[in-house]
Amino acid sequence: MPDSILLLPDNIANQIAAGEVIQRPGSAVKELLENAVDAGATEIKLIVADAGKSLIQVIDNGKGMSETDARMAFERHATSKIRAIEDLFHIKTMGFRGEALASIAAVAQVEMRTRRPEDELGTYIEIENSAVINQEPCASATGTSISMKNLFFNVPARRNFLKSNAAEMRHIVDEFIRVAMAFPNIFFSLTSNGQQVFHLEAGNHKQRIIQILGSSYNAKMVTVKEETDYMNIYGFVGKPETARKTRGDQYFFVNSRFIKNAYLNHAVNSAFESLIAKDSFPSYVLFIDVDPSQVDINVHPTKQEIKFEDEKIMYAFVQAAVKHALAQFSVAPSLDFTLNAEIQNLEAVNKPFTEEKQQTASSSNLYKTFTQKHQAHVIESSGKSELKHWKAFFTETKLPEDISTLSNSEQHTQFSYEQRTIAPTESRFENSSFIQLHNTYIIASVQNGFVLVHQQLAHERILYERYSMAAHSKQMPAQKSLFPVTVELPAADAALLNDMLTDLAAIGYTIEPFGNNTFVIQGTPADVLQGNEKHSIELLIEQVKHFSSDVKFSKREKLVRCMARQQAIKAGQSLTHKEMQVLLEELFQCNTPNVTVGGSPTYLEFKEDYLDRMFGK
Ligand code: ADP
Ligand code: MG
Repeated sequence: MPDSILLLPDNIANQIAAGEVIQRPGSAVKELLENAVDAGATEIKLIVADAGKSLIQVIDNGKGMSETDARMAFERHATSKIRAIEDLFHIKTMGFRGEALASIAAVAQVEMRTRRPEDELGTYIEIENSAVINQEPCASATGTSISMKNLFFNVPARRNFLKSNAAEMRHIVDEFIRVAMAFPNIFFSLTSNGQQVFHLEAGNHKQRIIQILGSSYNAKMVTVKEETDYMNIYGFVGKPETARKTRGDQYFFVNSRFIKNAYLNHAVNSAFESLIAKDSFPSYVLFIDVDPSQVDINVHPTKQEIKFEDEKIMYAFVQAAVKHALAQFSVAPSLDFTLNAEIQNLEAVNKPFTEEKQQTASSSNLYKTFTQKHQAHVIESSGKSELKHWKAFFTETKLPEDISTLSNSEQHTQFSYEQRTIAPTESRFENSSFIQLHNTYIIASVQNGFVLVHQQLAHERILYERYSMAAHSKQMPAQKSLFPVTVELPAADAALLNDMLTDLAAIGYTIEPFGNNTFVIQGTPADVLQGNEKHSIELLIEQVKHFSSDVKFSKREKLVRCMARQQAIKAGQSLTHKEMQVLLEELFQCNTPNVTVGGSPTYLEFKEDYLDRMFGK
């Protein structure tokens, strides 16, 4: 028997390897655009025909290639972007594997024209089946133009797997958008079958997003921007009303690379929790910049998935930044909010990112610091983050040294909530002064500045959380009516009320059907004024009926929201010192004290240093 192992010829090996990188026209588009970006181009034009099946051409005005490089570029593992393994941890370019051009040359007919600015003549090169079939000097503009024709001409099995032109074009546009979105300072155009589809002038991030997603986004975007020594995040999230039923415009970029990451996506969704319906998706375009040593981009052939050195910090950071942005979206842009205290207090974030630190970071020291102090656990339960923030803000007491103690006190506050509403024990605002303005706003002094609270919106938030907690299993303090009230309703309303009885019971209403569209109210939640039961139920039915129908909340959620709105003390009502104190106490014990469920801010914060700056101090 002869031996049976053979070395694969280069062109077959390349074709097999190409399968990883070039799956469809869209993947070739991505690679070619990224090469143009890496080449420092300020203008990149993409031209396709037949959804890239017959032609994909990318023309850039970047730095071009020498004659030798032009040939080398198509060799497997030929790259100018890394030299040693360490470079892998400091990648600043989009490519680094040296596989794309080799793969493309294995599965398409390639022609390239390239010239460096310093050269008089450029190079023309033609490749088929991984072999150079023609190379000669040529006249050429500065930069590079690569066209690949007849993708998979030599791999019929793969060609047959391509989808319809419409589907493949969709992929191309997706890839185009992802690169164009990440590099707004570069001009991009896309021409398909002779028609220009995109023409994106260079500009800033916001302009680029609007060019791509449409000008209707202009008024619907909330700016996200947080900077720490560990990482920066900036970009935009759509206001709650832009949430869609389908996962639409969601873009994450890490160090300018579009990535898919379910975990970070979850962080954004959770920041929107209770602002949008459960089954809808917020839109966002978020850019995260982090030291390259903190991410591993080498875990996926097309680099769309990456690994973070510490995912939990990323999660907490993204969630906090988005929450923060949402809380302010109707607030004067000059107001100086700072990053959520929970994140700020993390050692890795508030200590300067020194050279020394950078070095230890790559040996994963950061990760260890967090887990050693059980901090990872704290970050995990970050849903309640504002609590800590406010605790720190309002009390004279210093933050505990060990962040794990915080977690205990946080739990304590949470569970003592109901108890507190019945019999308030300790008081954080004991020594604060309050001023009520126009019977609507409360100014309260706090440790390093003051807050301006809208009494109605603040109370709405408090009640929302209280009812919501009750509606999800905790028992609500209820009162039995001394004189049960009977309500008679129109048939349609009666049917509606019948439907709501269980949910109403959960939040403290005891209502019994009495036949003939009549109901007896036996008990009400503790906050409802005796004597007001009938009106409150009628109002509730009205509100539930008119609850904005384009948002699909559960019945119970609608009810809870209506109740909160209905029972909240109104603007125009004069409050005593004690009432203001209780209101603020309760507000800052909420899980999300800073916004109503409808998205309006409940208070504005004026910090001393911001005030000083405003007065030029
Ligand atoms: P990688 O991008 O991972 O380095 P590629 O196969 O995509 O690998 O490209 C190989 C090399 O060819 C690059 O490292 C770069 O030096 C050169 N190159 C590719 N495209 C261009 C371009 N548009 N302009 C200038 N150089 C390019
Ligand atoms: Mg490349």
